[in-house]
Amino acid sequence: MNFLLLAIPILALGVIYAAKALRESGAEYAMTLYRLTEDGKAISKEQVRYRPAEFPTASCGNCRYFVQGYCQVLDTNVDANYICDAWQGKSGEPSYAVAPEDMVAFGQGMVKLQPYQHKVVAMLDTPVGWLVLIEDTMRPPHRFSLPFSFHVEHTSREHYWTQEEVDWLIKEGQNKEVR
Ligand code: SF4
Repeated sequence: MNFLLLAIPILALGVIYAAKALRESGAEYAMTLYRLTEDGKAISKEQVRYRPAEFPTASCGNCRYFVQGYCQVLDTNVDANYICDAWQGKSGEPSYAVAPEDMVAFGQGMVKLQPYQHKVVAMLDTPVGWLVLIEDTMRPPHRFSLPFSFHVEHTSREHYWTQEEVDWLIKEGQNKEVR
């Protein structure tokens, strides 16, 4: 009985340390990399989950990479009423408004749900340059892409990421698995 009482916390500690070691080793994740150039083929529609648009405010028709029925990222024709994970809104086209009387509730909702939390999902090497594929914490999550130049500007200006921090991120990312 005494042995059991001692063994349970020791086992629990072992699980916590094993999870921490796994996390720090980077073995628990692998970045997804979709390349245009590897075999000369464009990124496939399946890789970026090309599908009918869920919301009228976000679809190929108002994506910055959509030019007269042609997608610059996938290098093929697409349907204006579809969408893919690499969607990026055109600048100057806000898709929602908040009434003045709703501003407090809007703020409270964001504080509660933290929809600004972003997860980096993949890097896309495309005809329009490198894109960073992002997933937020909406229910369900939304996916979209950021041009690398925008990503650098946004993270260095708004998030004030420093060169040292970026170098640290790069160092952390070296030798990690890429599939
Ligand atoms: S990047 Fe995706 S959302 Fe944008 S036009 Fe191409 S297929 Fe549509």
